Amino acid sequence: MKGKDILEKLQSIARDPFPYLKAKRKKGQQIIGSPLADVPSEMIYAAGFLPVTILGTNQPIVKASAHLPDNACSLSRSNLELVLNYEPDTFDGFVFPQVCDTTQHLSDIWKMTIPAKFFGSFLIPRQVDRKSARHWFYTETQRLKRQLERYSGQPITGEALAKSFQLYNENRSLLRKIYEMKVQAPQIVSNRQLFDLIRSFCFMDPEDYIPLLKELVSDLAIIIPNTQESKRVVLSGIAVEPTELFDILDELKTSVVADDLIVGSRMIAYDVPETDDPIEGLTKRHFAKSPFSPIRDVGTRLYDHLLQLVMETKAEGVVYFHIKFCESQDYDLPDLKAIMRDRKIPMIVLETEYQTAAKAQTKTRLEAFVESLYGEQING
Ligand code: SF4
Repeated sequence: MKGKDILEKLQSIARDPFPYLKAKRKKGQQIIGSPLADVPSEMIYAAGFLPVTILGTNQPIVKASAHLPDNACSLSRSNLELVLNYEPDTFDGFVFPQVCDTTQHLSDIWKMTIPAKFFGSFLIPRQVDRKSARHWFYTETQRLKRQLERYSGQPITGEALAKSFQLYNENRSLLRKIYEMKVQAPQIVSNRQLFDLIRSFCFMDPEDYIPLLKELVSDLAIIIPNTQESKRVVLSGIAVEPTELFDILDELKTSVVADDLIVGSRMIAYDVPETDDPIEGLTKRHFAKSPFSPIRDVGTRLYDHLLQLVMETKAEGVVYFHIKFCESQDYDLPDLKAIMRDRKIPMIVLETEYQTAAKAQTKTRLEAFVESLYGEQING
């Protein structure tokens, strides 16, 4: 298959993964869904299930409002709507992470509202600088293993875990390669294509994904870079939704050179290291990860990490995506804005909602921001 066809195929899965997932189910594959973030997919895969990260829906909210208040974050409402209304039959079970107050409440609502053969919880420590946090994560990962083993009726073997780690590490490494290639030669894939590839990683079996990515990497490697000017930006936040916002970034001739998004670099940057104890490997990986808004350690780590990305990549501006009613991001923003102002780093904050295309208004604001980076009007 040619690179262009591979990209199209993977982008179509990124935009609508459910035909792919339904085909897998038809072949007997059980699917376990998890909302964001930090559930170790490798453990679910080693148990013989296909782990899928649930990334919400942009379709209208019809049923979720009966279970969640209107001021619950847009991501939670859209996730609940997806499984309650639009895809009630895709998932065999769920592993539900609790990363913030909203997910803590939603976990119980989900368990009571959505019929599933399996429901596992995964309680992630939120103050990761505490001494007990590592022990907590290790013990919780052991508990997840036992929950999955009870459901499948089979032990999760060391061999199955080693194979799962190897596949996911390889998949992530190929995606990182494409990201690096884009940073060097922005036109080889658009912003939308790059983030669609990361998105499809949330849905696909690495055994299906890796051969396609290998072909794509070798195809992209022969594209000769051109010198088309683009503004280098860093994206920040949790997720960019609706994903059409990436198209706007493309239209405005910006190129993403780094990001701290959860549905972005944080998903592909960290591999499970080789260790004799697989649970220890998963724990080490978790604590190596970049910051995530509701997970706290040293107070300034989120901002320091973003500043580091801007400096390392010589980015010209930051685009921050604020999910409507995300409390954690609400707390972050005043300090973040002040720090960027002090450092004279141009930053725009866009409030986003899964159900609002809001393209015209967002495009106008982004256009003005990018024009200010160019210091002139953008033509074409
Ligand atoms: S971290 Fe924010 S966006 Fe994510 S579930 Fe919690 S409130 Fe919602």
